[in-house]
Amino acid sequence: MLPTHAVGIDLGTTYSCISYLNEHGEPVTLANKAGELATPSVVLFDGDEPIVGTEALRSAILFPDRVVMHAKRFMGDTEKRWTIGGRPYTAIDISSLILKHLLASAREQIGDVDQAVITVPAQFSEAQRLATIEAGHRAGLNRVDLINEPVAAALCHVLGNEGLWFTELAEEQRILVFDLGGGTLDLSLVKYSRDEVAVIASDGDLRLGGIDWNESLLTAISEQFLKEFRLDPRQDPESLQFLSNEVEQAKRSLSSRPKAALTCQHAGHRKTYQVEQSQFEKLTRHLTDRTEEITKRLLRDQKIGWARVDVVLTTGGASRMPMIRDRLKQLSGRTLNTSLSPDLSIAHGATYYAGMLLSNNKFTKSILNAAASQRLARVKQRSVNARGLGILVRDPRTNTRVPHYIIPPNTPLPAEVTQKFGTVMEGQKRVRLVVIESGAGTKESFVKLGDCVVDGLPPNLPEGSEIAVSIRYDEQAKVHVSAKDVTSGRRAEAEIVRAENLKPQLTTDQKADADARLVGDATPSGPEIQSVTPTEPQAPQPASHRQRKPPTPTVASPHVIGRAATPVPTVKTAKPAQESIDPGEDEFWRSLH
Ligand code: ADP
Ligand code: MG
Repeated sequence: MLPTHAVGIDLGTTYSCISYLNEHGEPVTLANKAGELATPSVVLFDGDEPIVGTEALRSAILFPDRVVMHAKRFMGDTEKRWTIGGRPYTAIDISSLILKHLLASAREQIGDVDQAVITVPAQFSEAQRLATIEAGHRAGLNRVDLINEPVAAALCHVLGNEGLWFTELAEEQRILVFDLGGGTLDLSLVKYSRDEVAVIASDGDLRLGGIDWNESLLTAISEQFLKEFRLDPRQDPESLQFLSNEVEQAKRSLSSRPKAALTCQHAGHRKTYQVEQSQFEKLTRHLTDRTEEITKRLLRDQKIGWARVDVVLTTGGASRMPMIRDRLKQLSGRTLNTSLSPDLSIAHGATYYAGMLLSNNKFTKSILNAAASQRLARVKQRSVNARGLGILVRDPRTNTRVPHYIIPPNTPLPAEVTQKFGTVMEGQKRVRLVVIESGAGTKESFVKLGDCVVDGLPPNLPEGSEIAVSIRYDEQAKVHVSAKDVTSGRRAEAEIVRAENLKPQLTTDQKADADARLVGDATPSGPEIQSVTPTEPQAPQPASHRQRKPPTPTVASPHVIGRAATPVPTVKTAKPAQESIDPGEDEFWRSLH
């Protein structure tokens, strides 16, 4: 058996990075073919082979109709397509091309890679997580595991810091992970205790990141140029592309130097401007203010004062900006822990997690030496689900379908809740429930994950027979369902039929297919919710007819037999994401056109 490498991938909105653990258990970043440690998450379709990385980024504005960027913002969106050269691409397609690119250069350096851990934002939904896994499979990975980005950062902090590891940390540490990337601000409170790293709560802004700082600087320079020459460089794609590249360079310089120069050229004119750090800071103060507001909000919602935050850990490329560090220092009244590499720490954390999984797997031989293996095997990571998980039920007062959450947001994972249902017909063979997740924002209150079909019930069950359905989030916030016929104790098959795979299901075995009524209420505070929403009429009808007809609401009488078999996990008070990804617009383009 060939030894397996522990490989971690940070699949970022703007930059991606891949690393592996060497035999001593230290993460090593694998450079791309151009020798860069971080690869822009950008794909250019020009000719036969897609081009990934810096070259694609350089063409972004010049050939906007051939370049795709920020695909991560559309992960899990089944509608979104970029059509290039007459071919439609989904976010999964784009992400798999980026992953393929990273994996190809990794394989050149360390040999075959057939499994990896990929990072996702803590607030990613089930659909977004599954899309990420699929992108990994399509890129040629046999096994894909996920880890939440803040947990990765915290693991990197705990495991990457030898001193910290060996001093055996005090009982417990609360770590605030402040991750300011290209397009998003991700904040998480992470608790480290006795070899366990767990996210307590997360918050953030899906529309606040380094590109907003670029936009401010670009606007200011363009307006200055317009004033002087009466010509707007933003009007011409080539001038805009040139200026955008200059702005990115200048912004980066200003993180380490008090001044930077940048050139604007347009319509035969060329001018070099000097930007001072203090000017840039003033120009973007409103953005820095927003990072402060969100940070305060997280602590306020968690009822946690700064005194109870032990470490402020910064990561994400844009956290290098002095105004961000100054503001956080001022806010928290302490020195920040900037020991993590802003570009690499998330990938390194994922790599540690890959090592932890390998070390706990007896069936795989890893390249790690015994000491490194033992050390990794000791640590556990734990997360909470960012979204509530439940089913749709009918509220008899309003006769509308309402979400009935059985696993609330911020429940420690893994989490499982069992809910009992009663069959609605004699001899019912099959039960269908609509499984939902709470939405990430105000626009969508919930997202339908699919229908949970419980199949293979024993024959001749009387009406009202109890079926116990368990819905479970695993450690990586993936959803699983299982079901049991309570009378016979027999397990029934249960699977979530994804929305996109639903149609063919509707045509099979219609007769035996029916709803169930809710008999055990898993939410202590939901007396008005009485029955499971029937997704289809209850009486068997010809298949063709049933397919066309919209669902007829049928309210089963409340028939409470008992409480859920598993108590509802304690609800923590953190809120889900504040904003949702809007598939209709792309900030970068909106700002530049
Ligand atoms: P993501 O995870 O969203 O892909 P990263 O954490 O890689 O993003 O951060 C990318 C952002 O960091 C970009 O907006 C980039 O311009 C910015 N960035 C990188 N280096 C610096 C620097 N030295 N100073 C300021 N911003 C930087
Ligand atoms: Mg990131």
